[in-house]
Amino acid sequence: MANPLPRPSILSIEPYVGGESKVEGANRVVKLSSNEGAFGVPPGAVTAMQRAAAEMHRYPDGGAAALRIAIGRKFGLDPARIVCGNGSDEIIQHLILAYGGEGTELVMSAHGFVMYDISGRYAGCRVIKVPEKNLMADVDAMIAACGPRTKLVFLANPNNPTGSMLPRGEVTRLRAGLRDDILLVLDSAYAEYVRHPDYDAGVELVDAGTNTVMTRTFSKVFGLGGVRLGWAYAGPEVIDVLNRVRGPFNVNAQAMAAGIGALEEEGWVEKSVVHNALWRGKLGDGLRELGLLVYPSEGNFLLVDFGDAARAKAADAALRGRGVIVRMVGAYSLPNCLRITVGTAEECMLVLEAVKAFVGGSAGA
Ligand SMILES: *Cc1c(COP(=O)(O)O)cnc(C)c1O
Repeated sequence: MANPLPRPSILSIEPYVGGESKVEGANRVVKLSSNEGAFGVPPGAVTAMQRAAAEMHRYPDGGAAALRIAIGRKFGLDPARIVCGNGSDEIIQHLILAYGGEGTELVMSAHGFVMYDISGRYAGCRVIKVPEKNLMADVDAMIAACGPRTKLVFLANPNNPTGSMLPRGEVTRLRAGLRDDILLVLDSAYAEYVRHPDYDAGVELVDAGTNTVMTRTFSKVFGLGGVRLGWAYAGPEVIDVLNRVRGPFNVNAQAMAAGIGALEEEGWVEKSVVHNALWRGKLGDGLRELGLLVYPSEGNFLLVDFGDAARAKAADAALRGRGVIVRMVGAYSLPNCLRITVGTAEECMLVLEAVKAFVGGSAGA
């Protein structure tokens, strides 16, 4: 008997493994494995979702008008140039399926966000991973990697899991070096956290042409990873394509309500960003004092190099032993490293204590 078979590229996909949330035997777990904001859910999002729950027999507004208006107001953007999605992952997948496919190529940096690889293979694209320089996307190498079949270039800025950020000049140089018919997707999932003066999340480049898209998420600073909500900002041509291919009700009504509630939470982003900058700094300094290599990060996480894969694995186990869950990043070809989310002050102190005990215990071993 013959089995139904998927397209060959599907079986080359390594399924995505999310950050873990449980440790056997631990009664209190500190989850620093998924870059969820340090402060949990904005209270206004909870009330808004509770209110919306009473209406869950109704289909949602398929055009997400109220949410797009709220996003537009918050970020100073035209709501007509916004499409919302069931997480930005959904939008990324639609972009790749719509513009890529069999016989095309997708270019990304070697340690770029893994969903581009997964969705690229799903679509049948050849995924080209371009070597980075000191864990930073290499603009010249990415331009050089593009050939006649290249349809999409992805750049997470700042990138997950490295934390690296390209200044606006470099991103502009990338766009200028690409053929006009290549879609450049700027994934700015951590944009709100960036305080570097030379950063543009992608708005300038989207506005400057018809071939650049910016994607954003509610899963990080807005604390709504569980409801699945993201959005894209693009010119009318790309918006039209996304509106043709997305599910008619791809964002549920409760998620939209929560999103609007989160956007309207007074001072939430400011408070989160100030906390993040302070504790990302303290956590990084503390880890460096313990002799570890910590990469510069503009996100709400740090990539920490433990020297070799065995030591990274041992450190992960030692942290787990204290109920602290961080992220192994072997799937990103970074087996020597762990990615640690910046949590609350107390959580950051716990990480430092746990790593200190590990480094002390493994000294000379
Ligand atoms: C977390 C993250 C996303 C967010 O995905 P959602 O589907 O919106 O939760 C997208 N891109 C990068 C680089 C991320 O780290």
